[in-house]
Amino acid sequence: MLPYGRQSITADDIAAVAAVLESDWLTTGPQVDLFERAIAERVGAAQAVSVTSGTAALHVAYAAIGVGPGDEVVTTPLTFVATAATAALLGAKIVFADVDPATGNLDPQAARAAVTPRTKAVAAVDYAGNPVEARAFRELADEHGLAFLEDAAHSVGSTLEDRPVGSLADVTCFSFFPTKNMTTAEGGAVVTSDEGLALRARAFKNHGLVREPERLRHKHVGGWHQEVHSFGLNYRLPDVLCALGVSQLARLDQFVARRATIKARYDEAFADLDEVRLPQVTAGAAPAWHLYPVRVPPERRRNVFDRLRADGIGVQVNYIPAYWHPVFEDLGYRRGLCPHAEAYYASEISLPMFPALTDAQVDQVIEAFRRAMG
Ligand SMILES: *Cc1c(COP(=O)(O)O)cnc(C)c1O
Repeated sequence: MLPYGRQSITADDIAAVAAVLESDWLTTGPQVDLFERAIAERVGAAQAVSVTSGTAALHVAYAAIGVGPGDEVVTTPLTFVATAATAALLGAKIVFADVDPATGNLDPQAARAAVTPRTKAVAAVDYAGNPVEARAFRELADEHGLAFLEDAAHSVGSTLEDRPVGSLADVTCFSFFPTKNMTTAEGGAVVTSDEGLALRARAFKNHGLVREPERLRHKHVGGWHQEVHSFGLNYRLPDVLCALGVSQLARLDQFVARRATIKARYDEAFADLDEVRLPQVTAGAAPAWHLYPVRVPPERRRNVFDRLRADGIGVQVNYIPAYWHPVFEDLGYRRGLCPHAEAYYASEISLPMFPALTDAQVDQVIEAFRRAMG
């Protein structure tokens, strides 16, 4: 089965990891700093905080924003459930706003209509790698004193008006899961240019521990002394995996270019299919395509999906609207809440999209899709 996404690992990646395995540091060591500095520089942010997953990145980011009980977080339903779940775990109420039917990204107008005096953050997702309309979310956040969080699990390597994703929002969360645009096996990062937010993020991912002498409440206790000033967790990304990240990041441009080529081949091959809607791009965006989402008539989606799977094409559906999950159903969220997101989901199929796809495999996908639609 041809998967919908997979990692690209080279001998250089393996050598980078092996070198760390033979060094003094398996976890928090020099590779963590190297990786964090490389990510921050690449995405145009002052600070990158590495963590153990994209989910951890979201949890850390919401915690650093100060999301808690009584707060509301406005977000999109067309996402992996972690975008909402991590804020819900901190006690926030999740307010789902609808997507733009063209791109599947959170619609800034719908988000604006969902804001109340209790809204603490707006969390938008760069669906499929296509950046959200950051300017509109920036204005909304500034007007209401909210945090603008960008879930960029799909979009490391994307740009909007020549600015990299990572420099657009107050805080941006990346995932380095193997299917994403680059990988550390499991891993993620929180990036921001807000030094206070970065400091709180670093504390939360490391038990809330404080060690700097000038920040200690109880001073001059002894060389062993450290303090917890707020509760945190252990979300530290090990040196072994940061080394893989440094090595992968050096090939991000190549990955993005190959994804763009595959996207263009699909676009061309399906341009004559009247029943099919191809992915749309935000004005001014140059996406790093994590997914290739096609939309087919909803009454045909199940059949086309099954035929492709039967043909050895490992298609996927992204995403079940987040509030359809029973955990949200049990909280009283009902179907029909965000009709555009539900319609998008009902017609969506993600075709294989990853840099190691050969031209012959792309042709295989094209033929199988055209057969399934025939
Ligand atoms: C993958 C993903 C996450 C979670 O990332 P993990 O590294 O798998 O924990 C969060 N949000 C979106 C949109 C994702 O695609």
